[in-house]
Amino acid sequence: MARQMTQITMEELVSLCKRRGFVFQSSEIYGGLSSAWDYGPMGVELKNNIRDFWWREMTQYYDNIVGLDAAILMHPRVWEASGHVESFTDPLVDCKGCKQRFREDNVLEENRVSRTCPECGGELTEPRQFNLMFKTHIGPVEDAGSIVYLRPETAQGIYVNYKNVMQTSRLKIPFGIAQIGKAFRNEITTKNFIFRTCEFEQMEMQYFVKPGEDQKWFEYWKEQRWEFYRKIGIREKKMRYHQHGPDELAHYAKVAFDIQYEFPFGWKELEGIHNRTDYDLRRHTEYSGKDLSYLDDVTRERYIPYIIETSAGLTRTVLTVLSDAWEEEKLEDGETRSVMHFHPEIAPITVGVFPLVKKDGLPEIAKEIEQKLRVDFTTFYDQSGAIGRRYRRQDEIGTPYCVTVDYQTREDRTVTIRFRDSMDQIRVRIEDIATRIKQEIATYRRVE
Ligand code: ATP
Repeated sequence: MARQMTQITMEELVSLCKRRGFVFQSSEIYGGLSSAWDYGPMGVELKNNIRDFWWREMTQYYDNIVGLDAAILMHPRVWEASGHVESFTDPLVDCKGCKQRFREDNVLEENRVSRTCPECGGELTEPRQFNLMFKTHIGPVEDAGSIVYLRPETAQGIYVNYKNVMQTSRLKIPFGIAQIGKAFRNEITTKNFIFRTCEFEQMEMQYFVKPGEDQKWFEYWKEQRWEFYRKIGIREKKMRYHQHGPDELAHYAKVAFDIQYEFPFGWKELEGIHNRTDYDLRRHTEYSGKDLSYLDDVTRERYIPYIIETSAGLTRTVLTVLSDAWEEEKLEDGETRSVMHFHPEIAPITVGVFPLVKKDGLPEIAKEIEQKLRVDFTTFYDQSGAIGRRYRRQDEIGTPYCVTVDYQTREDRTVTIRFRDSMDQIRVRIEDIATRIKQEIATYRRVE
């Protein structure tokens, strides 16, 4: 099969995501809310599958990592202790001509050295620091005493609960706490679809270690996190590590590596792996007055643990998966097909089930098969239109396997399974479909 790979543009991806029910503009009928997006029927399945895969990888497979779901609203002192009130800022510049506002680092990135407006070329103001936290009030009175913030990262919920979790789960260092949830940042530069939004989801795991062993664990997690992306099917040639230089390091970090992905708009961060040292627990000890040290009951040593953080964006991973999976293929008959090569573990639908025609008893058999497959897989039944069109529709939403019931099925109880990537078909007995598909999922490799 002749293949022609073209990189998808963001415009094409946004339009495909809308057309196929992955992602819609928020409040679209009112003209949309800039930088907010809603996940449609396909998008929510994809996002949940990635989320669940991460959860299994980061909790279920480890004896010493447990989960947490902390509240979005936290005591405001948390954000003073964490340094966010003081330092979670971006330098912003305004264009004196068109009045638009930009992050200074983005302007420099886009325009290389010239410090001019990326939109109109106008002169820019000096930078001002702008805090990224959304502020609101709790309770009926809007005064300084009622300020709360929407959390800009899920990590702090883990730090302030670390003793609760450790004691109730009887954990000993090293151990980890994992959490998935929403985070909010008042981002100014929000173009590029769901890459950077004001409301997003993070998947974070904080690993508590003994000082001195931090570098070893840092290296371990750096590798494990790369593996995660490989396992969900991201092509390794599109990934790289990026080490933070001294000017990029966050206020809490000793060493930081990003895993970057080559998006259609360039190499960008997908996940950060940070050695946060004892910064956070030390600060929370200081601000809360509570002792957050750890006592090793064998050596009787007391210390404040170091924290290795793995911080990934769930919604950003959805974008990565979408742009990585997409392919426009030129077929031998001159036609093109648009296909999403999702890894079967995360594809929104795993099996499409079709009767070849919608008569002669074929729909009844197909429906019965679909009902049975529902126990193990997310399925989709479709009997409308030509079979080729039905396959194409599933290709575009990335369904890896399609089962078709035809006239031969009535004679010998066999069906075809058609593979999305190769478009090959095999014939199997009805009772073997589920086992065969499970085998295929377990041994799946994307062929390029
Ligand atoms: P960036 O420089 O890209 O804004 P960051 O370095 O501030 O990101 P971290 O604070 O390390 O990001 O957050 C960890 C992860 O959370 C990021 O790697 C990214 O996947 C995700 N993330 C952060 N901010 C956003 C956002 N505004 N929208 C979507 N995902 C985000």
